[in-house]
Amino acid sequence: MIHHKKYYSDFEAKKLICEIGKRMYNKNFVAANDGNISVKVGPETIWSTPTGVSKGFMTPDMMVKMDLSGKVLAGKMKPSSEIKMHLRVYQENPEVNAVVHAHPPVATSFAIAGMSLEKPISPEAVVLLGKVPVASYATPGTEEVPESIAPYCKEYNAVLLANHGALTWGRDIFEAYYRMESLEHYALMLMYSNNIINRANELNCSQISDLINIRERLGIKTGGVPPCNPPAKERPYAHDEQGPSTSSTPASKEEWIETIVKKVTEKILKTYLTR
Ligand SMILES: [Zn+2]
Repeated sequence: MIHHKKYYSDFEAKKLICEIGKRMYNKNFVAANDGNISVKVGPETIWSTPTGVSKGFMTPDMMVKMDLSGKVLAGKMKPSSEIKMHLRVYQENPEVNAVVHAHPPVATSFAIAGMSLEKPISPEAVVLLGKVPVASYATPGTEEVPESIAPYCKEYNAVLLANHGALTWGRDIFEAYYRMESLEHYALMLMYSNNIINRANELNCSQISDLINIRERLGIKTGGVPPCNPPAKERPYAHDEQGPSTSSTPASKEEWIETIVKKVTEKILKTYLTR
């Protein structure tokens, strides 16, 4: 864990941004010059990626140093207009020391659909990420963008940007970046389980409360609690039945068949009787 060290040196910060940028690009989280990364090097100063460069081909001399109001302090290149989002996260939540923005395709597809990520399908997603809300659409580069994310910076660890991408933050650059990885991984599993396999055994409230305890022991107070169902002892874990296990499922298969037979019989009788 890197949490014991509050701030990186300028040298370390610039080198780490390049390294994370390469990973982000290689993982297809960004295309062309998309995305941006920033990291605090003091309570009021950050280093960030410049505008107009691919995150896969950056060198430390390209980085821009600025204060939390957006005033450039060092660097030969211009900052990205999307840095306004980063600055807003730092202003809203002083515990944040790094911010990552990307357009990972699966998570961004959820953002395009306006669907938040909150179904409890994996322990890692609950512990490392928590719920991921969708911030309302805002025109890129405008003041609406930081406004749209402001309500989520304190309670959550990540947010989807409607029709745009995703934003994650953390206590250090690794936490912020790993949350982007976890977010895309979570979105991918949600898509497979809910939209391709069409079946998901969600974690119940008791399992989630155990995970929240673990999360608190890791010192993470943010992320929210996913919506969940109480554990149902009488309902077997759905692995050999047809279709997803839901609360509206009849008590037994026999009962269900009986209901259908009754309905079909009624329909046939009605057809014949009205002829
Ligand atoms: Zn973007």
